[in-house]
Amino acid sequence: MNDILPPDSARWEWLEGKVRSLMGRFAYRNIRTPIVEPTALFVRGLGEVTDIVEKEMYSFEDRLNGEHLTLRPEATAGVVRAVVEHSLLYEGGKRLYYMGPMFRHERPQRGRYRQFHQIGAEALGFAGPEVDAELILLADELWRELGISDVRLELNSLGEPQERKAHRQALINYLAKHEDLLDEDARRRLHTNPLRILDTKNPSMQAIVDAAPRLIDFLGPESIAHFEEVKAILTANGVQWTVNPRLVRGMDYYNLTVFEFVTDQLGSQGTICGGGRYDYLIEQVGGKAAPAVGWALGLERVLELLKEQEKVVPALIPDVYAVVPSPEMLPLAMASIQKLRRAGVSVQMHAASDRSNGMGSMKSQFKRADASGALCALVFGGDEVSRGMVIHKALRDGSGAQTERPLATIEQWAPTLQSIG
Ligand code: ATP
Ligand code: MG
Repeated sequence: MNDILPPDSARWEWLEGKVRSLMGRFAYRNIRTPIVEPTALFVRGLGEVTDIVEKEMYSFEDRLNGEHLTLRPEATAGVVRAVVEHSLLYEGGKRLYYMGPMFRHERPQRGRYRQFHQIGAEALGFAGPEVDAELILLADELWRELGISDVRLELNSLGEPQERKAHRQALINYLAKHEDLLDEDARRRLHTNPLRILDTKNPSMQAIVDAAPRLIDFLGPESIAHFEEVKAILTANGVQWTVNPRLVRGMDYYNLTVFEFVTDQLGSQGTICGGGRYDYLIEQVGGKAAPAVGWALGLERVLELLKEQEKVVPALIPDVYAVVPSPEMLPLAMASIQKLRRAGVSVQMHAASDRSNGMGSMKSQFKRADASGALCALVFGGDEVSRGMVIHKALRDGSGAQTERPLATIEQWAPTLQSIG
């Protein structure tokens, strides 16, 4: 679990800001659900024999009432719970997005943390492939907006439950024939969750997994039509995709379209975003059956990729550093600074770390002003202020030019202090 500190936190805020604006343009609305949910929600929602439920959840008993609770390992289950609890689909479908921390007890490594952050988009109450495509276009647009390149889109269709059942049987038969080649994990899953065996990261099982029956070959005409329509919309939008018949995703709740955005630039944690359709989850969680589709992206991985691609994110620097030579000037200086801030100027005021030496020497104040990155300093010197003036000193253009500005009209010239962008 990481502390996210300035100046790095500015990258987070920048990314979150981009996402908010983009979600607005797709008319997705923000939802905020609790970080803790009843354990049963995840067990029922994600599936009992998934990695997350089997070994990654931070679960505990509420000491006051014995309730079984879990720090959310993902947010879809909570969003669905909220949608059901508040009858949000009563008047038709809803498009929602969230951002926030998730918790999984995994082995920490690059791009894999125990508290990590996801941004997710969910469209609930819509059955058609156009919404699958819309969500994929939304993510694709985000990469464009962030200036991220070299991510590929992998698609698959998991079909419908009956189709999966037929495939599952074929898969079990096939894998059972080669049981001696399976690792321990796969053997354990053979009869509980054989589909997940296809998702194995064990290199020694690649060959057997490559030759396994493919779910995509078990799809009926309706599932195929749904998948084709998604692909056609993506193609019409110039979005490139490949079908990866082994893409199964980590939760049990998916059906039909599943997808991942993957990069080769982050080592083995290359999936930056994943999602799919989950038409049976709402009913599973106790609501009236309704279709849904969504995705989640990992913020840490996206930020890491931005760094990898040397994408420069605007740094947060104040417009003005306020130099206050003596404590007597503070009341007036702070009243002026407040007017500047009200006018949209960002001002970092000098503050003494120790008042035994007053506000500190001018030299040390200017050193701080330089370090702050501010474009200019305003100096509230006693002589000038008594004449109703403040000194403006340029800090970045190399000139060091000083001019006096009248305090009486501060609101009028405040906008000239604002940096652009
Ligand atoms: P992986 O295969 O890498 O374990 P996952 O399938 O478990 O990923 P999802 O549950 O689909 O991941 O979550 C969506 C996204 O959240 C992932 O694509 C990834 O970017 C991010 N993510 C998942 N787990 C972590 C983690 N422990 N630390 C950082 N990011 C994560
Ligand atoms: Mg995982």
